[in-house]
Amino acid sequence: MEFQRVTLSYQADTGETLALAGLGFSVAPGQSVALIGPSGCGKSSALHLIAGLVRPSEGAVLVDGAPVARPRRTTALIPQQLGLFPWKTVLQNAAVGLSVRGVARREAAERARSALAEVGLSGFEQAYPRQLSGGMQQRLALARALALDVDLLLMDEPLSAIDALLREQLQEQLVQLWRKTGHTQVMVTHSIEEAVYLGQRIIVLSGRPGSVVADIANPQAATQEWRDSAAFAAQCKQVRAALMGCGEGGAHD
Ligand code: ADP
Ligand code: MG
Repeated sequence: MEFQRVTLSYQADTGETLALAGLGFSVAPGQSVALIGPSGCGKSSALHLIAGLVRPSEGAVLVDGAPVARPRRTTALIPQQLGLFPWKTVLQNAAVGLSVRGVARREAAERARSALAEVGLSGFEQAYPRQLSGGMQQRLALARALALDVDLLLMDEPLSAIDALLREQLQEQLVQLWRKTGHTQVMVTHSIEEAVYLGQRIIVLSGRPGSVVADIANPQAATQEWRDSAAFAAQCKQVRAALMGCGEGGAHD
């Protein structure tokens, strides 16, 4: 996928908000990229553009070499607000994307069940989202995307509500799934360590309007040895410095 000099402005009653200005980068097929930057710099907007939910004001967003005109069947977005339906059960929520794509009910339930198992939610099929912790809700949103068998996975701070230990386990799991399926993934995160663990490239955005301030190669990403190496800590330091350079000490969202 590719951003070509993308500008995005939102029109609202309160006036115009320029969210992205001249955003440009591309992601090769099968690559795992982490997107990090100050709050409000347009990270979620960038994912919405790739997902075909909004259109650029200027420039172009390409997937598979063609401008994204509408949501693609084989792209999944895990939105920051998760998008769970409170009136549907966990199993129904996990199957939603499949239903929308016209997969028969029985098969949808089967695939949803196995995706739930992959994120450790077996046994909660008949529960409702409100009965789950924040971390479990995020795992449910992840299962919904995994059930789809996509080639492009977009994740907007997918692990932010998950506590440290489980978070590392889920990061591992994301790595395994990504290695297994070979999909392209773009993940927004406000965790420097997460970006460095998961992103083969770490793209640092400036404050609003967002544009690329650093594009850091991180070829050792997504291996267990990497997290424990001295080079890992050095890489985190470099990303932190790039974030500081764009006026954000903590990079919170
Ligand atoms: P981030 O995910 O990096 O925090 P967002 O992409 O959510 O940033 O938002 C970028 C900017 O665009 C913010 O100033 C936000 O208030 C604004 N914005 C986002 N979505 C809309 C919208 N639908 N209408 C108006 N302004 C929006
Ligand atoms: Mg956001």
